[in-house]
Parts: sequence; structure tokens; C-alpha cells
Amino acid sequence: MAEFDYDLFVIGAGSGGVRAARISASLGAKVAVAEERFMGGTCVNVGCVPKKLFVYGSHYPREFEDARGFGWEVPGPAKFNWQTLLENKNREIERLNGIYRNLLESNQVTIYDSRATVIDAHTLRVGDRKIRARNVLVATGSRALRPHFPGAEHTITSLEAFYLQELPKRAVIIGGGYIAVEFAGIFNGLGVHTTLAYRGDCILRGFDDDIRTHVAEEMQKSGIHILFETDFESIEKRDDGVLIVRTSHGEEFETDLVFSAIGREPNTEGLGLEEAGVHLDARGGITVDDHFRTNVESIFAVGDVINRYQLTPVALAEGMAVARTLFAGGEAQTVNYDHIATAVFCEPNIGTVGLTEAAARKQSDHVQIFRSTFRPMKNTLSGNESRTIMKLVVDEQTDRVLGVHMAGPDAGEIIQGLAVALKAGATKSVFDATIGIHPTAAEEFVTMRTPVTQA
Ligand code: FAD
Ligand code: NDP
Repeated sequence: MAEFDYDLFVIGAGSGGVRAARISASLGAKVAVAEERFMGGTCVNVGCVPKKLFVYGSHYPREFEDARGFGWEVPGPAKFNWQTLLENKNREIERLNGIYRNLLESNQVTIYDSRATVIDAHTLRVGDRKIRARNVLVATGSRALRPHFPGAEHTITSLEAFYLQELPKRAVIIGGGYIAVEFAGIFNGLGVHTTLAYRGDCILRGFDDDIRTHVAEEMQKSGIHILFETDFESIEKRDDGVLIVRTSHGEEFETDLVFSAIGREPNTEGLGLEEAGVHLDARGGITVDDHFRTNVESIFAVGDVINRYQLTPVALAEGMAVARTLFAGGEAQTVNYDHIATAVFCEPNIGTVGLTEAAARKQSDHVQIFRSTFRPMKNTLSGNESRTIMKLVVDEQTDRVLGVHMAGPDAGEIIQGLAVALKAGATKSVFDATIGIHPTAAEEFVTMRTPVTQA
């Protein structure tokens, strides 16, 4: 009998797990994956994909309005059917689940539709059987943190938001990060009276300050009510289902839904990792080295569960690195985390790569800022008041572009290309020498010539 059932056993068929399993199998390894819930993990089922579909759906009312300026008489008011969006979204997710399953099966990866836990360095419990693997990859992702105040059980998280049977008339979102601002835009666009309650003085901590301020203002202009420096004291549910929210300022108001988006924690509870001797960090994340190996030599971990960057493309890159380290026969692989571009699909969209102005100024006294705010061309005829902001952060001494930031239509699409330029070490002179594409918003990035003078 062989010592091991598999060369690699992956726990979790999400972004990182599927990528690692598929690439390992294509390199000749005998691979199995256990998935307790849904093929494709968070991103496909309750994350990036359904979120983006909802974002698309939420844009239409604005589009109908904008169309009038271009001569279209839209017989209004347009009617929205939440059930249709939900059903179509669910059908698309099912299609993607099938694609993920196929991807694995066509690469001869064995799938266990079951929970798996670790018993020791090479042994797993998968349902009611024990399986031995030469290597184990933990790719179990993360889950939403739940708030703690009286009545917090009446809040939902993004997990439930993707399956709401009815769209509420009024909603309060707690948090000021990615999920909070994205869902504020979705709800507001779909006609929900939306309030965002954030504990700090400006949303999206960690993003460039000009972008944060601009987006907060634009969100407010679009009708989202933002409560800054506000914590929740309690929520009470009335017999008629209405929720009474009390804030730290003593305010009290009614709403139909409270959505908490206060961050996510690594999914390590009950996995048997500590018993198997695997080190976890203070937040329950799995500690790994540069090659995603834990302190137990045969156990690896990637994705949200290692608590570095909670982004799908990062989990994919890490999963790929593990597969190549184990089975490509070359050097141990790592992931370069410099210049990770990211987009926030709030309204307006944010796209960003590299250093914020504040981070750059911490590193050097010689930072130049190029900034432009303008009304996108489409808005001249539509009458839409929303504005775009673009910003370059440049090291004056080396001329290197350190950061590129934008909030405006299609920001994610625009910034992806500029992320390649930053990764390649582009200087401001290279930006200046690049001929723009006219008429686009993106051309502004290669035509900003005058640095902002500091006050
Ligand atoms: P996951 O994709 O979460 O996969 C983990 C899998 O493991 C799950 O399927 C789970 O069921 C399974 N599992 C857990 N424990 C076990 C067990 N014991 N046995 C068997 N199976 C188990 N990122 C972006 O880059 N862009 C976005 O637009 C974006 N939008 C997001 C929107 C929302 C609402 C959320 C919540 C997240 C979003 N993210 C986005 C983040 C992205 O989804 C995650 O970073 C990514 O999915 C992490 O991949 P992963 O492989 O680490 O984990
Ligand atoms: P984030 O970390 O982005 O934001 C969490 C927010 O909750 C912050 O504003 C934080 O405030 C606030 N917060 C934290 N704890 C509390 C508390 N106890 N009470 C009140 N507020 C609190 O997490 P999200 O949940 O929004 O998203 C999780 C991750 O998923 C993101 O970080 C991102 O990596 C990923 N994601 C990516 C998306 C994309 O790529 N487009 C979309 C959605 C999610 P403070 O800043 O003051 O700490």
C-alpha cells in the first residue's frame, strides 16, 4: 500500500485552493480537494462576482436618467424587480460552480464535497474517512466578523445580503471599508434609502486621502446618508419587524435592515491546526514563510486564511506559487506583493496602485503630486453632477511614479493598465512621453503637467 493517498490534499475549493489544485495536478501530482459549501469559494458565490453583478444592476436608474440628455425619452419611472436580479444572479453562479467543478475534474483532481480537518502533519479527516497526504494546503478563506452590542443578532453580513428575499425600503450599513461602501452604492442605486455609519472621520482608511474625501462627497451627493464618528449602542426589533437603532451620539432612528461590514477573520476555528502544532497569529491567521509553508513542513496555507491581503488575485498567485514550489521541480516560489492594484466598486469606482500621498511623504520629503478633478465628458449632456478625480504621486528625485489613484467611471479598468507601468518602474517622464487616447478620461493620466503646489 502507498504511504500516501495523495501528493497534495487541498482544504477549500475557493480562489487559492482551486488554483493550487489545478496547477499541481497539471504538473503531474495526485491531488484531492475538499469543499464543504460551494465550488469557487467566496469570490464566486458570495463575493466579487455576485457583488459586481449587483453593482451593474444598480447603475441602471442613473443610466435611464442620463439617457434623457442624449435625446432618449425613457418612459418612466422604470420598474425594478429584485427577484429577477436575484434569480438571474443565482443562475449565473450555478453555471460558474459547474465550470469550477469541471476545471478540477478535467485535471483529474478528486473532489470531496465535505468538510475536512487536520489530524496531524499528513492525516486528514474528510467526512467519516481518514486520508493521508504527502502535503496539505489549507485554503479555507475568511468569514465576516460579527459586531458585539445588544441586538447585534438582528444584523446581517454580506453572506446574507446576497440572498435577501426582499429589498428593504431603508438600510443602515455599519463600516467604512470595501464591503460597506460597495453595498451602500448597490442599495442606493436600487432605490433603498441608505445610511452608512462609520466609526471614523472619513471612510476607506488606508486609501489616498483625496480619494477618500472625494468618494465620501460623491456618495453623499448621490443620496447616501453618511454618519461619521458613529458607533452603535444597540438595535431593538419591534413586533412589526422594524429595527430601532441607537447610536453612540444618543440618536435613535428606524430602519428595515442593518448590514454589518466590519472586516473578516481567517477561517481556522475547529480545523485541528493547533492540535497538529501549526502556529496561528493573534487574529487566528495561519503563520507561513515566504513560500507559504507553515512551521509544520508538510502543511501550507494561502489566501484569506493567512491574513495578508484579502483579494482574489492575491489568493490565486499564492496558490500558483505553492503548486510550482511543490511540483515544478525548480526553486521554491514566492509572491511579490509590491504594486498590488485594487478597485473598490463603490459609486464612483475607485482604482488604485502604489503609494498614497501620505505614505510617500512618510518615506521622503521630495514628493510631487499631480491632481485633476473634472466632470467626465458624458456628464456634460446628461446633467449628471458627479466628478472624477485622478492623482499621481511622484518621487521628485528619481522621477519614479510611486502611486496612481482614481475615483470615477471604470477606474478599475483604467488602473489595471497603469499597474503594469508602475510594476515596470515607469517614471513621470515616461507618462509624459506617452501619447494619450482621445477623447477618454484615462488620457488625463498622461497629460497632467503641473504639480500641485503645497499650501
Ligand atoms: P475562499 O474563496 O473564501 O475559499 C475558501 C473555501 O474553503 C470556501 O469555499 C469554504 O466553503 C471552504 N472551506 C472552509 N473551511 C473548510 C473545511 N474545513 N473543509 C472544506 N471546505 C472548507 N476580492 C477581490 O479581489 N475583488 C473583489 O471585488 C472582491 N469582492 C468581495 C466581495 C465580498 C462581499 C467579499 C466577502 C469578498 C470579496 N473579495 C474580493 C475578497 C475575495 O473574495 C477573497 O479574498 C477570496 O475569495 C479569498 O480566496 P480564498 O481561496 O482564500 O478563500
Ligand atoms: P475592511 O477591512 O475593508 O473594512 C472594515 C471596516 O469596518 C473599516 O471601515 C473599519 O474601520 C470598520 N470596523 C472594524 N471593526 C469595527 C467595529 N468593531 N465597529 C465598527 N466598525 C468597525 O473589511 P470589509 O468587511 O469591508 O471587507 C473585507 C475584505 O474583503 C476587504 O478588506 C478586502 O480585502 C476584501 N474585499 C475586496 C473587495 C474588492 O476588491 N473590491 C470588495 C469587498 C471585499 P477602521 O477603518 O476605522 O478600522
